[in-house]
Amino acid sequence: MLPQVIIIGRPNVGKSTLFNRLVGKKLALVDDQPGVTRDRRFGDAHLLGLDFQAVDTAGWEDDDPQSLPGRMRAQTEAALTGADVALFVIDARAGITPLDEEIARWLHGSQVPVILLANKAEGRAGESGILESYALGLGDPVPISAEHGEGVADLFEALLPHI
Ligand code: GDP
Ligand code: MG
Repeated sequence: MLPQVIIIGRPNVGKSTLFNRLVGKKLALVDDQPGVTRDRRFGDAHLLGLDFQAVDTAGWEDDDPQSLPGRMRAQTEAALTGADVALFVIDARAGITPLDEEIARWLHGSQVPVILLANKAEGRAGESGILESYALGLGDPVPISAEHGEGVADLFEALLPHI
């Protein structure tokens, strides 16, 4: 059985874009409008010689904002069960939001190792978000650009000890 790597984070940070890049097929829908991807998607991923099962999470995008954190939490916790490592994606351009902080708190209570990915870090627009993300207490963020394929080698190095 392949090690399982789960991609989590609030809507619109680039989870499905990362999933598609890792899996190499358009298995997950990506759209400028949040709310396109539903449920969990599984795909066989390959990254510089590492093989694993990638899991894209979603399914809460259409929920009413009041209940969003609760439903996300239930989804995220269900998805974390059985995962070998979690990729927690933030949007480095948007900076840290209250929902990112809340997800980070859930992750602190989880047994699953977490790699913090600061996505949308191409160019300089992500620099302040990268710095802010240290405050999440999840270690050094790995800057990536899922859309442009940057940070792949650093992601590989971060994953290597866990899979
Ligand atoms: P999800 O809701 O977390 O699955 O996010 P998506 O993968 O659907 O992406 C949301 C939006 O962010 C889309 O418009 C993507 O094109 C965009 N996006 C994803 N990755 C990057 C990136 O590395 N850089 C930039 N600038 N935009 C990105
Ligand atoms: Mg998605």
